[in-house]
Amino acid sequence: MSFAHFPPMPDFPPGEVWLAGAGPGDPRLLTLLALHAVSAADDIVHDALIDPRVLALKREDAELIPAGKRGGRPSRHQNDINEILIEHARAGRRVLRLKGGDPFVFGRGWDEVLALAEAGIRYRLIPGVTSGLAATALAGIPATTRDTNHAVVLAAGHRADDDQSSADWEALARLGQPIILYMPMTQLAGIAAALIKGGMAADTPAALLHAATTEHEKVVDSTLGGLVEDAQTHGIGSPAIVVIGAVAGLRQQVLSGLVSWR
Ligand code: SAH
Repeated sequence: MSFAHFPPMPDFPPGEVWLAGAGPGDPRLLTLLALHAVSAADDIVHDALIDPRVLALKREDAELIPAGKRGGRPSRHQNDINEILIEHARAGRRVLRLKGGDPFVFGRGWDEVLALAEAGIRYRLIPGVTSGLAATALAGIPATTRDTNHAVVLAAGHRADDDQSSADWEALARLGQPIILYMPMTQLAGIAAALIKGGMAADTPAALLHAATTEHEKVVDSTLGGLVEDAQTHGIGSPAIVVIGAVAGLRQQVLSGLVSWR
């Protein structure tokens, strides 16, 4: 295998911030650009869910700066993270902000880019494999098929700091399209009830996808009406993706040949 015919990897100049997605967990789902970024950075400001084997790819003298929640310790305030990125870039460091999944899907990546832009700091974006699409694909659940849906809704069940702006679930139910829920667990009962109220049948197929691509992975087949009980029975906690819609039921047709991600 040779990468000689690939486009060259970009230089990581001192004073730049690169905002990269590390994918859903398994280190092998890093993009080549994210891998390059990890190996070139001076400072890596990373989320709690980043696999330690990814962080171990850093230069020996690179600094790791945890930015996420872990073991009940409070997460850093978003403004603190923005400040760290700006200060370290101004100090001439090559700063990698490494986030789970894709940096622009429910990850506050936009807040960080805005702060960098306002501070006049140059930055680069490196997309990642988002957990909602990776968890579904690995479970044998297609995000779309020609027969079932022409759209997919990616929705946040819970927003860390302002629950005011949560989705209009009844309106989403009326779209008749599958819903892939991020951060679903704290509001699951209310969301399921609202979707049913909006007209989604309680027996709509659903799936709970916990810790996809990690050794803690669990996949639980369910229905919209059964989600809360099934989550309890199987001990599904965060991080999890919940898929609701006909696509969630299709995996039964293909399970016999599905080889595990491992
Ligand atoms: N930017 C991330 C999402 C950040 S929000 C992305 O694109 O994937 C954090 C939520 O992502 C978690 O609450 C959970 O819903 C989901 N998540 C992240 N990693 C996951 C995994 N390995 N398995 C299941 N869900 C995951």
